[in-house]
Amino acid sequence: MYRSVHYDPGVDLTLNETERDLVALCRDFAQREIALRAPAAWEAAVCPTDLLREMGELGLLGMLIPEEWGGIGMSTVGFVAAMEQIGLADQSVAAAWQAHVTIGSLPLYLFGTDAQRERWLRPLAEGKVLGAFGLTEPDAGSDTRGITTRAVRADGGWLINGAKTFISNAGTDMSFGVTLLARTEEPGEKPTYASFVVEKDTPGFTMGPKMRGIGWRGLDTRQLFFDDVWVADDHLVGDPAMGLGQFLKTLEVGRISIAALSLSLTQAVLDLAIDYAKERRQFGQPIVDFQAIQFKLADIATELEAARWLTYRAAALRDAGAPFLKEAAMAKLKASRVAAWAASEAVQIHGGLGYMLESPVARFYCDAKVLEIGEGTNEIQHVVIARALGC
Ligand SMILES: Cc1cc2nc3c(=O)[nH]c(=O)nc-3n(C[C@H](O)[C@H](O)[C@H](O)COP(=O)(O)OP(=O)(O)OC[C@H]3O[C@@H](n4cnc5c(N)ncnc54)[C@H](O)[C@@H]3O)c2cc1C
Repeated sequence: MYRSVHYDPGVDLTLNETERDLVALCRDFAQREIALRAPAAWEAAVCPTDLLREMGELGLLGMLIPEEWGGIGMSTVGFVAAMEQIGLADQSVAAAWQAHVTIGSLPLYLFGTDAQRERWLRPLAEGKVLGAFGLTEPDAGSDTRGITTRAVRADGGWLINGAKTFISNAGTDMSFGVTLLARTEEPGEKPTYASFVVEKDTPGFTMGPKMRGIGWRGLDTRQLFFDDVWVADDHLVGDPAMGLGQFLKTLEVGRISIAALSLSLTQAVLDLAIDYAKERRQFGQPIVDFQAIQFKLADIATELEAARWLTYRAAALRDAGAPFLKEAAMAKLKASRVAAWAASEAVQIHGGLGYMLESPVARFYCDAKVLEIGEGTNEIQHVVIARALGC
């Protein structure tokens, strides 16, 4: 079983009492349950919804949703600190959890009507079902305006046709459906986009098998197909002309979340590398006594701290109600780069053993790459930051 012994967030972060209690709860659950049970789910490549249901019972699935709607109304800083604990134990569980908490639930909270919040958000926040966010399509990833899924007026509601790809959390035994983005303009008009809820047993809504990633093997990610899917008007979420803006606003929080996931991965591989370097002996001494190894560890620790403060700052700005678009992009860019690089360095410190999937560091290495891709690639984070700089 893997345990972090080198990092205590209570010591060097200014968390309030509620946030510290949350961190303690997450650390206990992560080390007692997730670290023990998630590796089997990773091996079997299935989403461990039993663990996610238990996290729901602890209130963790309604992390950023106010109590009024079934959540626990946690601060974004508290969420980041909690993620540092969950992600240390297993990245797939943490990935499914964060996708639910941010992009899977927030569109309904931020833009839904009270009736929609009661119908769909409350069960999401209470942890009874899992939420999914459908933006990416086979021909439109970074170019979000290029989506071709279309919703047209029909029989007092909307008829949706198209396909989405790489959609997380839509196909598990705990999934309720998806909040998706579709184009709504008439032929020849300027593109407009709107957001709709499609529940999982709606006629015409089907999905492909779970896709096989090189990491995050416990995360359920699939292609979704919409073939003359009819939904009533009350499934339209928010402003019918502002769906794209709503989705992009939601992704800002998702980026803080991916940054936090990256911190947890970097901390995990640093801890593993330190422990291994102290144990492993070559040339008659522990390899940690070689300066080349010490410098790698010192570099990882330093880069991790830099990424950590960018991430907590973006979270604190959101909690203060200040703009955080640029800071979230910077946090995601820096933290995911650090994670992917640190995972490679940690494998190097483990030598051949680090290459073998039997060792936890190898699994973290596989999980690291996607952090530079999901919720907007790092090239797109550069675009966001450059635009914010007026370029
Ligand atoms: C495991 C996993 C889970 C995911 N879950 C979800 C989900 O739940 N919901 C969802 O909607 N999506 C999800 N995604 C999709 C993810 O958000 C996209 O993969 C990502 O946004 C990139 O889109 P793409 O894969 O189409 O790459 P592309 O957009 O085709 O990009 C290919 C390459 O071109 C580069 N590029 C593109 N445009 C530019 C530019 N303007 N300037 C410079 N470089 C550029 C990219 O950075 C990348 O390197 C998931 C993806 C993965 C891998």
